[in-house]
Amino acid sequence: MVFAYNFNDMSSSKISSLQIPKRLLMGPGPSIVADSILEKMSKAPVGHLDPYFLSLMDEIKVMLREVFQTTNEFTFPISGTGSAGMEFCLVNLVEPQDTILVGINGLFGRRIADLALKLGAHVHTLEVGWGEAIEAEQLEQALKKVKPNLVALVHAETSTGICNPLEELAPIISKSGALFILDTVTSLGGCPVFIDRWSVDATFSATQKCIGAPPGLSPVSFSPKAMEKVAQRKTKIPSWYFDCSLLYGYWGSERSYHHTAPINNNYGLHEALRLILEEGLQKRWERHKNAHLQLKKALSELGLEFFTPENRRLWQLNAVRVPQDKDEAFLRKKLLDQYGIEIGPGLGPLKGKIWRIGLMAEGANQENVAKLLESLKQVLKS
Ligand SMILES: *Cc1c(COP(=O)(O)O)cnc(C)c1O
Repeated sequence: MVFAYNFNDMSSSKISSLQIPKRLLMGPGPSIVADSILEKMSKAPVGHLDPYFLSLMDEIKVMLREVFQTTNEFTFPISGTGSAGMEFCLVNLVEPQDTILVGINGLFGRRIADLALKLGAHVHTLEVGWGEAIEAEQLEQALKKVKPNLVALVHAETSTGICNPLEELAPIISKSGALFILDTVTSLGGCPVFIDRWSVDATFSATQKCIGAPPGLSPVSFSPKAMEKVAQRKTKIPSWYFDCSLLYGYWGSERSYHHTAPINNNYGLHEALRLILEEGLQKRWERHKNAHLQLKKALSELGLEFFTPENRRLWQLNAVRVPQDKDEAFLRKKLLDQYGIEIGPGLGPLKGKIWRIGLMAEGANQENVAKLLESLKQVLKS
């Protein structure tokens, strides 16, 4: 295939220094980043094998375990976004002879199934509609039928605003004996996540949702059972960058060079995790819930309705129906141009039908929710 190189009309001499606009990020991520995180990230990088950086890596691992609620030794951030964390989990744990059951109720479950197919596994899906949750009975039946040795679920489906009921689903998977992979990209830091209590064997998250740091790192954790699965592999891990044994040589006690960790992103993650633990997990979850309740009350006063059923609704990602007579994209653009506020559009089958309002990390406070609501009111009136 030949690609035409397209030099458009822009001449480099016209490019000036960036004047980055100020935005209030109230969409599906990235979320608003606290000043103290930005301040740490603006410092000059130290070397990635500098003793200072090595101790910073150790502190990140300790804090991540607490945020994930796990004692898993193998817990650290992958250099890359949430999708890199997904790729890391699957390339290490999925082999062609494996049978994997993937729960799909939105965009991100589909992604996991696509990657498992690329890895040559026998892929079965448990699919429900966009806007529905995966329920215990459905999972139980699918497990009986498919008998997978791996199960993958998305905790917080950012494309639809649905929270899959992990308190009910996790024990069923655990009982089946299958290895359990869980996407905690949007849930971690925004609502209860219990990696050990739910017997999750592999999880991946991301820094730019409820952790509240810029995109660029993907915290992951493997249980001893997952490590065992890797040790028992019959085929080679089909990746170099994401090979868990090589990566652990770097993030574990050996400290051998693998790649150059993005130093400044790790400064940011360290500060973000410190802020989370200083606030306290319970308090932080409650803050996200309260922001959601504040939004819910005001939306009903504006005559707007949720797309999602109340008992499966996420706090940190609110899927709201666009009024029938309104042009979704036009109003969203107005919100950005006139008020500097970003909210998200619907994806796939929900395009044009919903807005996705993210109340993540710094976005989940009364003042920011009030700003959004006031601006939304003005835009809807116009
Ligand atoms: C955002 C998101 C991802 C992908 O993360 P990136 O950082 O965009 O690569 C995966 N899963 C869920 C649930 C997400 O919300």
